[in-house]
Amino acid sequence: MKQLMFDEKSGKLVEEIYNYWQNESDYPDYVKKFIKQISDKMVIYELKGNKYFCNKCFKELDENFNCPGCGKPYPKVNGQQNRGILPIRKMTNIKDLTNFVYYYFWEVYEDEVYLYVIREKIYFDNPIMCMPFKTSSLVTEAVYHIKQDRYISLIDNEVVYFEEIKENRQIGEDYGGFYQMNSYIYTDNLDNLKNTVYRYSRIWEAKDYLSNLDFLGFLDITYAPVYIPGFENLIKLKFYSLAFNELYEVDFDEETKWFLNKKNGYLDFMMENNFNGPMFNALKKLKVKDEELINYYCGWCEVIEDIEAIKVVDVSKLRNYLMKQENEFAIIDYRDYLHWASVVGLDLDDKNVLWPNDLMTAHDELYLQVELLPDKDLAERIKSIAKRLAINKYEDDDYVIFPADSIESLLEESRMQHNCVRTYCIDYSYNKTQIYLMRKKNSLKKSFVTIEVKNGKVVQARAKYNEAVDEDVLRIIKEWERNIKVIS
Ligand SMILES: [Zn+2]
Repeated sequence: MKQLMFDEKSGKLVEEIYNYWQNESDYPDYVKKFIKQISDKMVIYELKGNKYFCNKCFKELDENFNCPGCGKPYPKVNGQQNRGILPIRKMTNIKDLTNFVYYYFWEVYEDEVYLYVIREKIYFDNPIMCMPFKTSSLVTEAVYHIKQDRYISLIDNEVVYFEEIKENRQIGEDYGGFYQMNSYIYTDNLDNLKNTVYRYSRIWEAKDYLSNLDFLGFLDITYAPVYIPGFENLIKLKFYSLAFNELYEVDFDEETKWFLNKKNGYLDFMMENNFNGPMFNALKKLKVKDEELINYYCGWCEVIEDIEAIKVVDVSKLRNYLMKQENEFAIIDYRDYLHWASVVGLDLDDKNVLWPNDLMTAHDELYLQVELLPDKDLAERIKSIAKRLAINKYEDDDYVIFPADSIESLLEESRMQHNCVRTYCIDYSYNKTQIYLMRKKNSLKKSFVTIEVKNGKVVQARAKYNEAVDEDVLRIIKEWERNIKVIS
């Protein structure tokens, strides 16, 4: 029930509406206190020297993580993990350091649930101080009204039905997913959720688990607890890693219930190995208590299904074959290879056809033959799209980023990087996806990072052999991403 209040303008009783916190001056004290607590404890981590520094006086911390300058104690952190650190390339660049930290807060008003995402910007270049000084500013990044069947963004009035997410879950990351890194959640008011749309979730029982996270997706704390039947059971089982980790990937069918039944022997194995949604799906598919094999195929269940629709192969043998290919996405190339091989009528019962010695060469031959050669306008389309995307060119003292401008440049990038960017030729030519090449200025001819962009967001940024990109380079890419103009 909404509360009634007297409106002086109209002289009538009206329903009181929810006034969300628009900026820092609206935040209640507990919100500011929580953010300050986490923010003050952030250790500056120098990537180059693998060293830790005080965020107040910039002295290197001693082995107990105390500051020898101001005496401030810090929690022990590890630069290899995200929690509690502000990474920077070199301490001498402290004025360039900008970090974003995200905070989630649930607010209950008139039994309705609102979820805030507050973004903190931490930087050290304060124009008023002549010395670097830690400065922090807060903005309300998003406010969501969580209903039984949907969420409503109060800032832009966007409404998303959970049913729609269920149907599009392979792109689940698109829904508020960008808050995942470096995000913290306030858990002291979880009991307030008991009379709301969260009433069946028992989410308050996971308080300790949630308060220790620094990596949390939006759907993990909205869609999963409110909409997924079975979430409550996972909480009862204390199987938190699955409950809060891409549970939107999992179908709660009879088979799922069977796997979660302790009697059938899989539950303990899953809990010991901190299973998440994609791992659980891989287990359902493979049905083996082999953590390594499951991790290998994790997230590729649909690709395995595609492969099996063409030719049923032994998954252990397939893994051994793919691991020799020096390519993280070899399974996709293999699926495509099998598809084209069956299209042109090759004999898949022939071992030399089924397991080609050099997958990429065999793959590229068929790719050219089946997809590229018949498409006469391809080269023209790529040239024209590259011209239009050139407005997103980037250049600084060390790096350039520019759109791939020909079939040859895509094939060459693919060869140099050992990645599958060649398979994007057609989608790229129709502007369904955008491929940018990042190069070092002092070696423009040599590939460095391949970047795939979709709807103005970087969906992949990969170095050679599809390896992850260094933190400092990633930062440049993230900064560039903010200014990407989408061309329709
Ligand atoms: Zn200090």
